[in-house]
Amino acid sequence: MTNIAFIGVGNMGGPMARNLLKSGDGVTAFDLSAAALKPVTDAGGKSAATALDAVKSADVVITMLPAGAHVRGVYLEKESILTAAKKDALLIDCSTIDIDSARAVHEAAAKTGFDFLDAPVSGGTGGAEAGTLAFMCGGTEKAFARAEPILQKMGKRIVHAGGAGAGQAAKICNNMLLAISMIGTCEAFALGEKLGLDHQKLFDIMSAASGQCWSLTTYCPVPGPVPTSPSNRNYTGGFATGLMLKDLKLSQQAAQNAGAATPMGAEALQLYALMAAKGQSGMDFSGIIQMLRGVI
Ligand code: NAD
Repeated sequence: MTNIAFIGVGNMGGPMARNLLKSGDGVTAFDLSAAALKPVTDAGGKSAATALDAVKSADVVITMLPAGAHVRGVYLEKESILTAAKKDALLIDCSTIDIDSARAVHEAAAKTGFDFLDAPVSGGTGGAEAGTLAFMCGGTEKAFARAEPILQKMGKRIVHAGGAGAGQAAKICNNMLLAISMIGTCEAFALGEKLGLDHQKLFDIMSAASGQCWSLTTYCPVPGPVPTSPSNRNYTGGFATGLMLKDLKLSQQAAQNAGAATPMGAEALQLYALMAAKGQSGMDFSGIIQMLRGVI
């Protein structure tokens, strides 16, 4: 049994912590929200009064927090995980955050002698519940080798993307591509509708032709061809526009800092910002087809 401290047990961290409990590990959780802690303690976990209390006897510390500022807060403050954890503890941050914050935590962790990994996930809340998340990891070979068996209890695909920050870099590259391919798929269906094409016929043709992509064949933005896609549930219960917008902002911040030209990513950010401004932050990101149709 491994003693794991879990900081941030919200929509993603909660089910991830429960999967660790299911596999027989001990979990001590901390969250600012008592409501978030309850499902973890109900499942057999312990709760701590502070993040520092949670980590002090942990072999592994996992953080799953909203953004870079929260992650910097728990790792870089004067009294932090780096001052309270056991010296041989393994530290893993699974939050999706900016690369600069991830690298700052890597640097501070290395200076204090900790193995630290940035390990953002894809797979959403469904993947967190089912234990099928994909983890994209950045850090040393040693940190990755220590983390892999732990991450396997919460996911099915664990990839070592490279050194410090490489997990965050891979995650925002992927999600920028996803946003662009979804908007392209939605434009094709919106045009097809105007040209009198049947959704299923257009799906059958594009999915076997060069337009084939995940946004079309797994997450089809029109109801019918892929029964499990959120378009069949009025664009609910998938990957919210607000979260896609967050990842696109991170991608464009990284592109500016690195001097990369990402004009389509910049356009995707503007389109999702417009959708959010229309009050649709909670709608699944494939619902952008409704904006192209002029429905929202
Ligand atoms: P969430 O808001 O549901 O959970 C975050 C939790 O962190 C909350 O319960 C909050 O109370 C807690 N928290 C905030 N500051 C804290 C602190 N200082 N100490 C302890 N707890 C603190 O968010 P989520 O959906 O679980 O997302 C977590 C991370 O995972 C984000 O970085 C997000 O971008 C990423 N992510 C989310 C999804 C998704 O589908 N929800 C998918 C992939 C990645």
